Amino acid sequence: MSAAQRLQEIRNEVSTCQRCPLAKGRLNAVPGEGPAQVEIMFIGEAPGFHENKQGKPFVGQAGQFLDELLKAAGLDRSQVYITNVVKCRPPNNRDPLPEELAACQTFLDEQISLLQPTVIVTLGRISMVKFVDAGRISAIHGKTHKVNGQKVVTMYHPAAALHQPALRQTLLEDFARLKKFIGIKAVGAPESSLPEPGQEPEPKPSPSVEPLTPIHAEPEDSTPSEQLSLF
Ligand code: SF4
Repeated sequence: MSAAQRLQEIRNEVSTCQRCPLAKGRLNAVPGEGPAQVEIMFIGEAPGFHENKQGKPFVGQAGQFLDELLKAAGLDRSQVYITNVVKCRPPNNRDPLPEELAACQTFLDEQISLLQPTVIVTLGRISMVKFVDAGRISAIHGKTHKVNGQKVVTMYHPAAALHQPALRQTLLEDFARLKKFIGIKAVGAPESSLPEPGQEPEPKPSPSVEPLTPIHAEPEDSTPSEQLSLF
């Protein structure tokens, strides 16, 4: 079975999934969308009001800003895969509960394994902590991490700029830096040709559905405002 076929199967499984209580309140599950061959995979938190209605990721105001951010990176949606850590909308857009994250994680882990993106971009705190379990987003936004050989860039959630307009320019500048990851697969350039400053090149891991283990990036120093999932 090809990666594209299995990704479609996962979409079907998600659409009827009953593994956690979020199934009861959804209009539509939002499995994620994009081609099977991508260099960049974006992972947000969970569907919101508009996503729940349409069954597509990032279609509200935050989604419109995400389109603008992708443009700043020289990308559009047809070139990337976009999904969330949790595929069904939590009531009143609350943070997903640990048991909901646990119930849903195999879908995301398999999507990552099938896509093998050059880089994963996390959007917001909830998806960040799946990979980088410590550190303030205000300190590590736009930074690249290596998590079990996988490059991960931690970004603010686009909705953060809707609440704090000052973050709009920060997000645009962080996204513009994603350009360095575009074209790596197409030209077959080894990752080692694009090391991060101060980092030794590391071999890419072989495909696996094993979840990536979070790494400790910086000492936790959260303020109340930074404990909001969008930031
Ligand atoms: Fe299934 Fe995930 Fe939806 Fe829960 S959130 S019902 S685990 S698809």
